[in-house]
Amino acid sequence: AAEAGRDFIRDIVQADLSSKKHSRIVTRFPPEPNGYLHIGHAKSIALNFGIAQEFAGKCHLRFDDTNPTKEEQEYIDSIQADVHWLGYDWGTDLYYASDYFDRLYDWAEGLIEAGYAYVDDQSQEEIRINRGTLTEPGKNSPFRDRTVEENLDLFRRMKAGEFPNGTRVLRAKIDMAAGNINLRDPVLYRILHAEHPRTGDKWSIYPSYDYAHGQSDAIEGITHSICTLEFEDHRPLYDWLLDKLPVPSKPRQYEFARLNLTYTLLSKRVLTQLVRDGHVSGWDDPRMPTIAGLKRRGVPPAAVREFVKRIGVAKANSVVDVGMLEFCIREHLNKSAQRRMAVLRPLKVVIENYPEGQVEELEAVNHPDDPSAGTRKILFGRELYIERDDFMENPPKKFFRLSPGNEVRLRYAYFIKCTGVIKNDAGEVVELRCTYDPATKGGNAPDGRKVKATMHWLSAKDSVPAEVRVYNQLFSNPSPSAANFAADLNPESLEVLPDARIEPSVASDNSGEVMQFERQGYFVRDKDSAPGKPVFNRTIGLRDTFAK
Ligand code: ATP
Ligand code: MG
Ligand code: MG
Repeated sequence: AAEAGRDFIRDIVQADLSSKKHSRIVTRFPPEPNGYLHIGHAKSIALNFGIAQEFAGKCHLRFDDTNPTKEEQEYIDSIQADVHWLGYDWGTDLYYASDYFDRLYDWAEGLIEAGYAYVDDQSQEEIRINRGTLTEPGKNSPFRDRTVEENLDLFRRMKAGEFPNGTRVLRAKIDMAAGNINLRDPVLYRILHAEHPRTGDKWSIYPSYDYAHGQSDAIEGITHSICTLEFEDHRPLYDWLLDKLPVPSKPRQYEFARLNLTYTLLSKRVLTQLVRDGHVSGWDDPRMPTIAGLKRRGVPPAAVREFVKRIGVAKANSVVDVGMLEFCIREHLNKSAQRRMAVLRPLKVVIENYPEGQVEELEAVNHPDDPSAGTRKILFGRELYIERDDFMENPPKKFFRLSPGNEVRLRYAYFIKCTGVIKNDAGEVVELRCTYDPATKGGNAPDGRKVKATMHWLSAKDSVPAEVRVYNQLFSNPSPSAANFAADLNPESLEVLPDARIEPSVASDNSGEVMQFERQGYFVRDKDSAPGKPVFNRTIGLRDTFAK
């Protein structure tokens, strides 16, 4: 990882400013609106917008909307919301590659006129085969030597919509024997009779990524066009096009390593499939690595920014341990989240020596490290709930929590001792009988006796029912297969606890803030909450639990 805030791209930017190659840096984040953004995109967003901020430049948000069959307005809207949520702003610099379609088309005619492009009638399959391989040069298309007039006529008729999809393409005329396969007459335009979200049915041809991307950069005056490593081999084509076209500026492309995470797939194809096949509830399912999923899960945007900063920007691909992301989330929430009590799997406790009908208010601390967070009142009474896991009828040696005859502390309240166990017909423990020691109020015994466990609890009458959703990794394989991802799904990625109990103050809280449920982890209210039926998502547990 790079030292904080410094990496090879920022070094280049700094050098270009120092040498006055550029007086102002312009970067861009160029998503294709064919899905929701994921945490990999957050790395690119933080890099592009971060550089603009640090070097007093600007960063454009540009929709690379050149493939209308896969693009939707919903994605355009979500991408804008997610960039804002991450804490970045493009101001008025919002662009669409589709706004450049006329100019790109005119430039393509210019390439034809200069003898740098031709219409090819070969099928997609023939083009693929004749492109050759790494060791075999490609074969020239039989249509490569068409006259300028014929090419112009055919290209105009492609534009006019005369030909069916896939029957012809416009290709750059470069070199079918080039060592770099991207230079073997790459496709610039394909025929596609498809309605575009912004240009409607105006176009029957659409530019390829390679043709549209660099020219869009040039039109916008981008100085540093930063993309992921798989585009390194496209750079000679990027430069070739800029060189041959009358573009208003000459951006430079730089490549960095994309983010890969253990237990995670960051491919829009896979994420789309997860949604379409119903493996998750939607793009914002809290198990998804999407920005929308992280947000719904309760992950603070500052934790995502911190994570991206820590992993740095490098030139070589690697896989980051998802534990690193979880560490950043925990570290942030430990500082920011107020403490509350919740019982996720309740077991009823009756305090036999506590007067029937009596209730008392106890004071609970909202944040142990932050006195300014204040305190709140919680109610104690004869009937309580404790966590089912905190009781064992026949405990092993090292079990210090509640068991018959054993004494424990209830947080903020009293010592209690288990005196009896009530079971149902199936032999399951359904209720405990306990006694409390009134002298231990506040949690200490005047006679100095010690207990080994402090447990959370809630009043049975004054707590509120809630559904709690506990999430685990979506994939059980640390490096899930993108090709056959369904086989690697974790069947226990979602655990629904329908009978949890929460403090009334938690139920009435509409702040959207993440809270720590003591001893359980961090939780946030979910949008599925209904009046009288709050739903909480576990953002993350208190400890790193999965194997490395
Ligand atoms: P996919 O390959 O899943 O379709 P993509 O890279 O095609 O994703 P785009 O919408 O084109 O998705 O991405 C917008 C920008 O985000 C690009 O500049 C791309 O390089 C960058 N990006 C995408 N995925 C990652 C990642 N995992 N790590 C870093 N940057 C990424
Ligand atoms: Mg893509
Ligand atoms: Mg892309």
